[in-house]
Amino acid sequence: MAESALQALLVTHLSNVRYLSGFTGSSCALLVTHDRSILFTDGRYRTQANEEVEHARVVIGKKAPSIQAADWINGRTPGPLALGIEAEHLTVFSRSALRKALPSRVEIRPTASMIEHLRMIKDAAELASIRKAVQLGSNLFTHVVKAIRPGVKELDVAAELEYQARRAGAEAMSFETIIAAGKRSALPHGRASAARVGRGFVVCDFGVILAGYCSDMTRTVYVGNPSSASRNFYQVVLDAQQAALASVRAGISTGEVDEAARKLLKKSGLANFFTHSTGHGVGLEIHEAPRVAAGQKEILKPGMVITIEPGAYVPGKWGVRIEDMVAVTERGCEILTSTGKELVTI
Ligand code: ZN
Ligand code: ZN
Repeated sequence: MAESALQALLVTHLSNVRYLSGFTGSSCALLVTHDRSILFTDGRYRTQANEEVEHARVVIGKKAPSIQAADWINGRTPGPLALGIEAEHLTVFSRSALRKALPSRVEIRPTASMIEHLRMIKDAAELASIRKAVQLGSNLFTHVVKAIRPGVKELDVAAELEYQARRAGAEAMSFETIIAAGKRSALPHGRASAARVGRGFVVCDFGVILAGYCSDMTRTVYVGNPSSASRNFYQVVLDAQQAALASVRAGISTGEVDEAARKLLKKSGLANFFTHSTGHGVGLEIHEAPRVAAGQKEILKPGMVITIEPGAYVPGKWGVRIEDMVAVTERGCEILTSTGKELVTI
């Protein structure tokens, strides 16, 4: 805030509010000034806010939380003031309501990714939570394998997985489960559908939320007896994933990690079939900074948690993706996902 010459920052993105204050409610705004933090919410959250919030005063009001913050600034601060807002998250509507509620001496300044930048580096407690979430996710894979058989609907596989996730303590899935069988495996984001599993690859990409932290993993299995062409295709993606994993360490850019995977796929003539980036940060949100993509300059630092998930997709034919979550360390990385990566055949 000092670097950006802000006297106050209005944090409205829920994950950022949670990160800073511990509050998990869905209607809130956190005002941070140079000497205090105040969490504004409404009466529904009185008990919860008082239980959860650390390092901030809780104020309960009737107006929208960001307008409560504006009123507070109005009444408590004299003179000109630069107020940062989270431009990536505050709606146009909320911004204009905020403008109307604030006196003209307050200048509204859009900021980008200020808290997200802090969130990139996970502390020991966050890493412990993430390890637990990833372990829960990894343990679910055996249920996926059990549920997949010729003729079953993708949706039924997802249903069984999600039921077992809840049974194991997951608060929720961290995103819509992807079970994409046969030709649908060529859809990088093939959410589970009513289509039935036949012979061929099945891409299974899923994650859970535990204590607020997300897990994310992908395994691709094969139903039937894979041809050598299928095995080779799988192996190329696995080699690309291993190459990217081997490249991860503090001090290199996320673009270089992406390049490590892409180089291998290129060698096998599959570069054009790798249509997404190699990975992304994971934490309180399933997709967060840093991006692990071509040309990215962000430098890896110890404590960052990212996915490594190259894939190759031949439209109308088949697709394979393999994804692990890793924590960056000084010399390399800790691979958090414990599920094996040999091609499982069913
Ligand atoms: Zn995933
Ligand atoms: Zn992912």
